[in-house]
Amino acid sequence: MSEPVLQVTDLAIALPTGGDRPFAVSGVSFAVRRGEIVCLVGESGSGKSVIAHATMGLLPRALAVTAGTIALEGEDIVRASAERLRALRAARMSMIFQEPMTALNPVMRCGDQIDEVLRTHTPLAPAERRAKILDIVREVHLPDPDRVVASYPHQLSGGQRQRIMIAMALVLEPALLIADEPTTALDVTTQAQILKLVRELQAKHGTGVLFITHDFGVVSEIADRVAVLRRGKLVEMGPKDEVLRRPRHPYTKMLIGSVPSMTPHGRPVDASARVILATRGLAKTYGASGFFRRRAAVRAAEDVNLEIRRGQTLGIVGESGSGKSTVARCIVRLVDPSAGEVLLDGEDIAAKPARKLGAMRRRVQIVFQDPFASLNPRMRVADILAEGMRALDRGGTEGERSRRIDALLEQVGLPATAKDRYPHEFSGGQRQRIAIARALAVRPKLIVADEPTSALDVSVQAQIVNLLAGLQAELGIAYLFITHNLGLVEYLAHEVAVMYLGRIVERGPAERVLGSPAHPYTQALLAAVPAVAPGGAALAAARIEGELPSPISPPAGCHFHPRCPQATAACRSAYPQETRIAPDHAVRCHLHG
Ligand code: SF4
Repeated sequence: MSEPVLQVTDLAIALPTGGDRPFAVSGVSFAVRRGEIVCLVGESGSGKSVIAHATMGLLPRALAVTAGTIALEGEDIVRASAERLRALRAARMSMIFQEPMTALNPVMRCGDQIDEVLRTHTPLAPAERRAKILDIVREVHLPDPDRVVASYPHQLSGGQRQRIMIAMALVLEPALLIADEPTTALDVTTQAQILKLVRELQAKHGTGVLFITHDFGVVSEIADRVAVLRRGKLVEMGPKDEVLRRPRHPYTKMLIGSVPSMTPHGRPVDASARVILATRGLAKTYGASGFFRRRAAVRAAEDVNLEIRRGQTLGIVGESGSGKSTVARCIVRLVDPSAGEVLLDGEDIAAKPARKLGAMRRRVQIVFQDPFASLNPRMRVADILAEGMRALDRGGTEGERSRRIDALLEQVGLPATAKDRYPHEFSGGQRQRIAIARALAVRPKLIVADEPTSALDVSVQAQIVNLLAGLQAELGIAYLFITHNLGLVEYLAHEVAVMYLGRIVERGPAERVLGSPAHPYTQALLAAVPAVAPGGAALAAARIEGELPSPISPPAGCHFHPRCPQATAACRSAYPQETRIAPDHAVRCHLHG
C-alpha cells in the first residue's frame, strides 16, 4: 500500500464556547493515500468542511485545533507557520469549491489567474508558463483554449468555471486535492462530466483526493474509500463497496436509504382524474426589446402543452436553463406569458389582468427552493400563515383563522409553539414546512413546487418529499413539481415532462418516460444520475458531452443535435414535431417521426 499523502490523527477542533456542542470535530483519524479518492460524507454541520479547511490551514479565527495532527506528506500542518502554509497551498495541496465564482477573481482573465499560480510558485519563463497554461486547459477538456484563457469567469458556464478551477488547482501537480462539494451546484449531466474529469486527472497524476460530499450517489461514482461523519465524529469508514453494500452504522444506513432510488418507476396515473390545469401553446420570450437598450430575445419557453390532474403530480425535469422555472412562473402568473393559454379549471388565465387574479391565487400556490428568502424574516409564523388567509379567504373570523393555523402546523409536522416564533429560529427543513403550510392555508387545488428540496440535506429532503406525498393523499392536491433531481420525480410523479431549451421533448406517465425513455436527451439524463450502486454504474453508461447551448441562439433543427449521439443530417435542419408513440406518451425526435 502506498504512503499516505494526508494523515489525520485524533483531530479535535473546538467551537466557540456557548453553543450546544463544544467540538466541531473530535477524535477524527483517517488517511488519504497517493492515487486514492477518499469521500468524506455527512450532512450540514457534520464537520466535513471544517476538516477540509483545517487541512488547508484556512480555519476561521473562531475555530481552533485543540488536539491531534494533520500531516501532509509527513509534514505537520497544524503547527506550520503562515508562510510555510502559503507555500504548501497550491504547490503540494489545493482545493476546489462548490461555487467557482466565489473562488475565481471576477475581474481577471482566466489565463491570468492560472498564470498567477505559476508566477508565484515556479521559476518558469513567460513562454513556458503560457505553454503550461494551454496544456492544463486542454487537459481539463475546455474547448477552444485560446478563447477560454482570454475570457473572464462570467463569460463561461458553471461547468466551464469548475474546469478552470480544477486547472488552477492541478497546474502545479499537488500531492493532495481537496474537493469540497464541487458538483453540488451543477446539473446532472455536467456533474457527471466533472466527476469523470476528476477521476481521469487523479489517475493520471497519482493525486490523493479528499472528496467532500453529502450525496451517496456521488460516492458510488467516485470513491475508493468512504468516511462517514456525524456531528463531528467519524461513525464509519471502509472501502466503498463494503460501506455501500453493508453499511454498519444506523446513520450510514439512514443516509443511503434517503437517496431516492430509481425504482419503482413513478406512481400509476389515474386517467379518470379531472384535468385542473392545462397549458396550450404556452410561450415566454424575455427581453425582446427595451426602451433604452435592445437585447437579444431569449425564447425561454415555446409551445408548451401540459396537463395536470386532480390529486396527481406532474414532474418537469431538465437542466438549468431548460425553461422549467419559466413555465412554473407563467402558470402562477409571476411572469406574463408571451403567447398561449393557461387553462385553470377550463378558464384561460394567461391574459387576465392582475387585479382579476384573486380567485386564481387561491387555487394555485407556489413553494420556492429557498424557504428563507421566501419567508418574511420580520413576521411571526402565525402572521405569515394568516396573511394569505386574510387576503384571499375573506369573511373568516380571527378565531377561525387561529384554529386553522394550529391545524396547519400539525399537518406539516411542526409544534403549535412554532406560531409565535420567527423564520430564522427554524432549520432549513422546518422553514420549508412553514412555506408549505403557508401555501396550504388558502386550500389550493394545485401547488407549484419549484425545486423545493434542493437546498436541503438528503435526510431532510426525504422528510419533505414524504410530507408532500402524504398531503396529496390526504387532501387531493395536485403538484407541479419542478426539479433537476430525477430520483425525486421518480418517487413523487405520476406524469413527467422533460424540457430542453424551452421545449418539452418528451412527456407521458412517469413509469413510461423514466422506465423506457424514448428521447435521446431523456436517456442521457437518466444515464447521468449517480445511483447508489457499489460499482458506480452511471459514469460508465452512455452519456452526452458538451453543455446546454445558449437559449439566445439555439442550434438550428433539433436543438439537441450538437449533443445527440444519434443525430442524423435531418436533425440539423428540421425541428421535430411532437409524435405520439402511445396514446399518453409524446416525443419530439426524428427517430420517432
Ligand atoms: Fe437526436 Fe435527431 Fe432526435 Fe434531436 S431529432 S434528439 S438530434 S435523433
